[in-house]
Amino acid sequence: MAVRKNITNWGNYPKTSSEITHLHDANAPDLKLSHDKKVIARGNGRCYGDASLGESVISTLELSNFIEFDAKSKTITCEAGVLLSDLLEFLVPKGFFIPVTPGTKFITVGGAIAADVHGKNHHKDGCFSSFVESFMLFVGPGEIIQCSPTENDQLFYRTFGAMGLTGVVLSATFKVIAIETSFIYQESIKASNLDEIFALFEDSAEWKYTVAWIDCLQKGKSLGRSIIMRGESASLDKLNKKQAKNPLKVHDDRIKNIPFFFPSFVLNTLSVKLFNWAYYLKQFRKKETSVVHYDQFFYPLDSIGEWNKIYGKPGFIQYQFVLPLENSKAGMRAILEEIANSGLGSFLAVLKLFGKNDSRFYNSFPIEGYTLALDFKYSKKLSGLVERMDQIVLDNGGRIYRAKDCMSRAELTNYIKAESDWFGSLQSERITMKS
Ligand SMILES: Cc1cc2nc3c(=O)[nH]c(=O)nc-3n(C[C@H](O)[C@H](O)[C@H](O)COP(=O)(O)OP(=O)(O)OC[C@H]3O[C@@H](n4cnc5c(N)ncnc54)[C@H](O)[C@@H]3O)c2cc1C
Repeated sequence: MAVRKNITNWGNYPKTSSEITHLHDANAPDLKLSHDKKVIARGNGRCYGDASLGESVISTLELSNFIEFDAKSKTITCEAGVLLSDLLEFLVPKGFFIPVTPGTKFITVGGAIAADVHGKNHHKDGCFSSFVESFMLFVGPGEIIQCSPTENDQLFYRTFGAMGLTGVVLSATFKVIAIETSFIYQESIKASNLDEIFALFEDSAEWKYTVAWIDCLQKGKSLGRSIIMRGESASLDKLNKKQAKNPLKVHDDRIKNIPFFFPSFVLNTLSVKLFNWAYYLKQFRKKETSVVHYDQFFYPLDSIGEWNKIYGKPGFIQYQFVLPLENSKAGMRAILEEIANSGLGSFLAVLKLFGKNDSRFYNSFPIEGYTLALDFKYSKKLSGLVERMDQIVLDNGGRIYRAKDCMSRAELTNYIKAESDWFGSLQSERITMKS
């Protein structure tokens, strides 16, 4: 039965009143679809913008069963509403890990496929799609299609990154990776400007995981001041005595929640400046090494539940773009200058390097080059900045990540070619209207 509810995604902007239907059976979804109301799948609402919002929403959260695990072939099959955090609880004690993970473990397997998520290892391993063997897709009344590289291959390839527009993923089979410990050997190195951080990324090409935090309020010679974190799965001999007592430790699932929305004035240019300044200075030496738990390395933000409330009730947007390698340096410089001059500082700015993406997954967001993800508190002034950044991304042949988008230009986000009659979201309608 459908219930009407006000919903929003992680950015708390925009908000919609939607009719929500929960799926209970992955083998026989009893959905009544009609052509006058398009539906869209929804996982855990961890995309930032308007991709899983719509007039009529199908929640997969109750499709949360594990179906099969084969340690020998390192393959797992589960329903689409299983969260990565649940997968980790199941896999890590057995010595396995998720092959590609985003910066939060609170997303569903269906959401990972629909956005074709990337992690800190894209330059080495590609997106989540690189590890998926098959999935079951609900494409319309009474129609469930098995998709793999050998069965309905075109639908298989175009579903990754299609943001739910090809149908509802009901279950999936994918590869996992073996780990000796659940810790990461990490090096953090400070870079005093953009040239240095690009050189550090180039120098770190052989590391499995790389990511950098950027202080995007710096200008002039310090533009691009940042810290790169590069890591490898730690072997047993790298652990200290305490860590070695439980080398396959699982994350702690007790998290502290932010109990209320912060008043809007708390996050302003000054507080963002202070945070970024403190973050850069908290690392004393140029280079530091440590062995940290996967939760700290991959999911630092997950330790504070509902941290999105610090942006206040109006919410925030995340703006993530990628620029082709040859234009990355100039384009990134132009965007950072634009942000620093606007005074609308981003609290969190994360830089990553994408490798070449498998061209068969043509709806996926990554292209070879640098990608930057920025958070901005929502305000009326923001649309001007977004427009100027969009122009720079466009001029440099880049694109915007639809899993984060809620206000960018259609030209930057309408790279998805596959749409079915039954499915549509607030995002797809917005983009169609704009183009
Ligand atoms: C703190 C944080 C960090 C993040 N870091 C990264 C990152 O590093 N890399 C990255 O790639 N992303 C990142 N993301 C974005 C997030 O991984 C994606 O938006 C992901 O798709 C969210 O999954 P979800 O289950 O919450 O789905 P939702 O947010 O509910 O939906 C996302 C999209 O998937 C579709 N969808 C969901 N379930 C299904 C299904 N069963 N079948 C078909 N379509 C479906 C929806 O229609 C929608 O278009 C981050 C998000 C947060 C909040």
